[in-house]
Amino acid sequence: MTSAFRNYIDGRFDEPSATFDSIDPSTGAPWAKMPAASEADVDRAVEAAHRALTSAPWASMTATARGKLLVRLGDLVVANADRLAELETRDTGKIIRETRAQIAYVGDYYRYYGGLADKHEGVHVPIDKADMDVTIRREPIGVVAAIVPWNSQLFLSAVKLGPALAAGCTVVLKASEDGPAPLLAFAELVEEAGFPAGTVNILTGFGHDCGRRLTSHPLVSRVAFTGGPSTARNIVKNTAENLAYTTLELGGKSPVVVFADADLDSAANAVVAGIFAATGQSCVAGSRLLVERSVKGDFLARLKQKAEAIRIGDPQDPSTEMGPLATLKQREWIEKIVAESLDQGGRLVTGGKRPQQEAKGYYYTPTIIEAGDAALPCVREELFGPVLSVLAFDNEAQALALANDTEFGLASGVFTTNLGRAHRMGRSIHAGVVWINTYRAVSPLVPFGGYGLSGLGREGGLDAIRDYTRSKSVWIRTSDEPIPDPFVMR
Ligand code: NAD
Repeated sequence: MTSAFRNYIDGRFDEPSATFDSIDPSTGAPWAKMPAASEADVDRAVEAAHRALTSAPWASMTATARGKLLVRLGDLVVANADRLAELETRDTGKIIRETRAQIAYVGDYYRYYGGLADKHEGVHVPIDKADMDVTIRREPIGVVAAIVPWNSQLFLSAVKLGPALAAGCTVVLKASEDGPAPLLAFAELVEEAGFPAGTVNILTGFGHDCGRRLTSHPLVSRVAFTGGPSTARNIVKNTAENLAYTTLELGGKSPVVVFADADLDSAANAVVAGIFAATGQSCVAGSRLLVERSVKGDFLARLKQKAEAIRIGDPQDPSTEMGPLATLKQREWIEKIVAESLDQGGRLVTGGKRPQQEAKGYYYTPTIIEAGDAALPCVREELFGPVLSVLAFDNEAQALALANDTEFGLASGVFTTNLGRAHRMGRSIHAGVVWINTYRAVSPLVPFGGYGLSGLGREGGLDAIRDYTRSKSVWIRTSDEPIPDPFVMR
């Protein structure tokens, strides 16, 4: 697999006309040149996708054959998971333990949608008119613009490419300008799997030109975006031009609610997984801990001990548990919000600084802040980093009110041994995902998405394919009699 990174457009790897440096976040130094797609490159990619959509072999391929290509792609991802993981770790700083495991699982997403490709059926309507037959066909919605952020990008691409290709769409996928290496390498697997030229185009470049052009292009009918809420607003402005059907998977400020009756050690491990795994750079990061006051002291002591024991270091080392943040900008943002929160009365339980042993790179220590006040910036803002804000509650109603006191609504966790309470909280939390006595579990079989500023639409699960189709109602009049009164609608 290559180490020269090129955009993949219309079945060809382009020699880049412009490049930019990609930074290794564990050293802060450039390590590779990435191709910067221009608006003209985007136009070529969208035109290629549109040609592929409307002509053979893709347009006439059976759903079964499309499914086989997807299964082959899934197998190739699994076979190349180690190499893709090394690239993702190098380019984003995400630890190798997680990138290996996550990418190996990405294969299952392609296999799942490959299996579903020929099981997505239209319907015959039992129409209320005796002389009519009506069939509702599900047709591919068209050219899809898929835009992903730098974190978990193979995974975030699979939840878009899988259902889109199963439905018969074609795709232009834009990798983030931060850490695009694994997706550009993944393009080689698309080629090897045998997708016809133009079916899948993969490029990288910047949001303000390449991303804007892609999402507003007149030949694009569907936009699938994952990223931050402020970019999402720009995407919605862009799609005002082409009126593309758009789904948005955005950020979160997810609550983890720990009741006094919970298994506290298990809950503490889940809280650590929720906020310190992936250095907190996860859309589902459980960044707001709500803990019942009677166990707050005990629980915080366990968390502090676990946080301080986390092995920070080289993300390529399999024993490392926390790597650097992906960008310098990200660390500066976290430092600003932590400083403001401490100024406004937050109490630092642990962390809040750069680790001494890692002078280079964008490292930051696992941080816990006892907020006291739900208005503090660390409670309200998505930090996308290893910072946990803690608030205490006295009863279930208060816990629920605090959990829902956010403009986001992506994920949530509840820890309790009370079955009735588990169901009540599961019903009442305003979030697309509620994990009870677990955290950070995903599957291709399960829909995923947010409430409020966390997004619009769902990815994953059976319904995702439907979201890449549109219906066409075909009416056939079966009567041999002439059409009656032409001035009355039937
Ligand atoms: P971002 O919004 O800055 O960038 C995401 C992508 O949008 C990049 O590819 C970027 O080039 C592109 N982009 C930027 N401006 C654009 C424009 N005007 N038009 C079109 N495209 C444009 O996000 P980020 O900082 O890379 O990622 C972090 C964010 O992503 C966090 O908010 C995180 O919660 C969110 N996220 C959400 C999920 C989810 O499934 N809900 C998953 C992962 C990350």
